[in-house]
Amino acid sequence: MANLNIDSSKVRSYDAIVIGSGIAGGWSAKELCEKGLKTLVLERGRDVQHVKDYPTTNMYPWQFEHRNEIPFDVKQENPVVSRCYAFREDAQHFFVKDTEHPYVQEKPFDWIRGYQVGGKSLLWARQTQRWSDFDFDGPARDGFAVDWPIRYGDLKPWYDHVERFAGISGNKDGLPELPDGEFLPGFPLNIVEKYFKEQVETKYPGRKVISARCAHLSKPNQIHIDQGRVQCQNRLLCQRGCPFGGYFSSNASTLPWAAKTGNLTVRPDSVVHSILYDDEKGKAIGVKVIDRNTKEEIDFYGKLIFVNAAALNSNLILLNSKSKRFPNGLGNDSETLGKYVAFHNYSARISAEYEGLLDYKVDGKNPAGGGYIPRFRNLHKQETDFLRGYAAGFGAYRSSGSDQSGMGEDLKNSLLNPKLGNWGVGSHMMGETIPKESNYVALDETMKDDWGIPQLKISVDYDDNDAKMKKDYLDTMEEMFTAAGFINIKRNESSQAPGLDIHEMGGVRMGLDPKTSMLNKWNQVHSCPNVFVTDGSCMTSTSTQNPSLTYMAFSARAVDYAVNELKKGNI
Ligand SMILES: Cc1cc2nc3c(=O)[nH]c(=O)nc-3n(C[C@H](O)[C@H](O)[C@H](O)COP(=O)(O)OP(=O)(O)OC[C@H]3O[C@@H](n4cnc5c(N)ncnc54)[C@H](O)[C@@H]3O)c2cc1C
Ligand code: SF4
Repeated sequence: MANLNIDSSKVRSYDAIVIGSGIAGGWSAKELCEKGLKTLVLERGRDVQHVKDYPTTNMYPWQFEHRNEIPFDVKQENPVVSRCYAFREDAQHFFVKDTEHPYVQEKPFDWIRGYQVGGKSLLWARQTQRWSDFDFDGPARDGFAVDWPIRYGDLKPWYDHVERFAGISGNKDGLPELPDGEFLPGFPLNIVEKYFKEQVETKYPGRKVISARCAHLSKPNQIHIDQGRVQCQNRLLCQRGCPFGGYFSSNASTLPWAAKTGNLTVRPDSVVHSILYDDEKGKAIGVKVIDRNTKEEIDFYGKLIFVNAAALNSNLILLNSKSKRFPNGLGNDSETLGKYVAFHNYSARISAEYEGLLDYKVDGKNPAGGGYIPRFRNLHKQETDFLRGYAAGFGAYRSSGSDQSGMGEDLKNSLLNPKLGNWGVGSHMMGETIPKESNYVALDETMKDDWGIPQLKISVDYDDNDAKMKKDYLDTMEEMFTAAGFINIKRNESSQAPGLDIHEMGGVRMGLDPKTSMLNKWNQVHSCPNVFVTDGSCMTSTSTQNPSLTYMAFSARAVDYAVNELKKGNI
């Protein structure tokens, strides 16, 4: 048989390469494949196939060796990931363990990651709110970061586009600070959540309590059924991977859809080392990969490159992509790469009890998690001594307990018929933090990972603005809880490090001026036009809303632009 040179660069050439297969990468891949581009998705983690690779999804509580607890020794070895509420026995296989992928904490930072096909889309809590003009105008109005190069109107059609496909449940609430979307029916609030809504909206004009919007199929449309997904069964076992495709994940939705086009190749176990830049051509030509298992170095080539490795890893890859033209990281003419990292401040919560409405209890489970209080601080004018504001979650549940002191029949009856107590209510803060030059990530000069890639050094912290905002959240919620007649109010200020909110953003920010930003209004690297960055690293500021829906919209919008430019011969 002829000796075929199957290792030629042609075999490793594609129209487009996407780095990362999580929420942003899945969307980039879907859009690129639908537009007819042969697309390679490079994913550092193992393959995870929808349904087949959800080993715990149908397990009963008693089938878990540790009753869904993480054993003490695992916690001790992995203190960072153990602090994440969703790191439990049933979902631990989708989380990165601290010991396996070390990083340098110049200041404490809880970096929570999911390295597998699907990334953190398997793990997220699926809260999905659009950003508004209050968010995109914010930096220009308050001067806390550079101006965004876009406004809500630029993103609106792309929010529509991604919401229709992903399936977002929510109500039309008519709030300019939280634009309505293309919703499936919202999940209803329970009786005490509704009661609190009435209390707040009557006593505090301008403040709202709405049903949280989330990426669940409350009532699927044809497009969701075509994806092979069905109605959410309200099981609340989502972080194990949902065999119904009840919630949006890359694995259930965008990746299989992209595969149907015949244009998709996914290469798991491919740790991207850097982007290859050709000084003569003046553009990126491909991506260098280290095979996760064999440690073999392989180059892949592509005309378009989408960087979607999640915010901090995209920073790492760009910082590690050095060439004659870009000695300090690809596209880094502005010297802003790695800087202006920001996050959400989730470090305060408040709980209480309510003695009213005891004739009612909760019926079923709500995957949206209950209520959402959109940002009301500093919206129409600056009214506090801190910049920007916070949103908050709000939920109510009926407490119950059973007497476990007896034996035999009595104990069985007591366990089977728990006694209902007061309602419990709780809220957590979701605060915007200010992007600052001093909050940065960089390559560590000495420490490398198992694949010979420099470890990421993270230097990110809270500031005075965060402290003032947190106090205002606690004072304001306490006042509203008191006004609603709640009792036993408990304020809880956690000393958690930044990062645990899992909404890290920035470092590769968008902007109007190439001197102060990395990306233009199309998420395109100012000085390397065939590279696009559409995950959280592109965010100029952080808003109070959960960010992932916005990454989806950015990804779809950037692909549309990139493919048009490619066809016109401009890239
Ligand atoms: C418990 C939890 C709850 C959350 N709740 C919400 C929520 O309610 N709402 C919300 O909006 N967001 C939420 N998030 C955050 C959300 O998951 C992320 O914002 C989102 O997944 C980011 O998408 P991404 O594509 O940028 O990153 P990811 O989904 O993390 O995907 C990045 C992918 O890139 C891969 N990768 C990284 N480095 C490399 C490399 N060098 N080479 C190749 N591949 C690489 C990773 O393995 C990963 O698969 C939550 C996250 C967690 C863990
Ligand atoms: S709540 Fe819905 S999405 Fe979550 S596991 Fe159950 S069916 Fe799946």
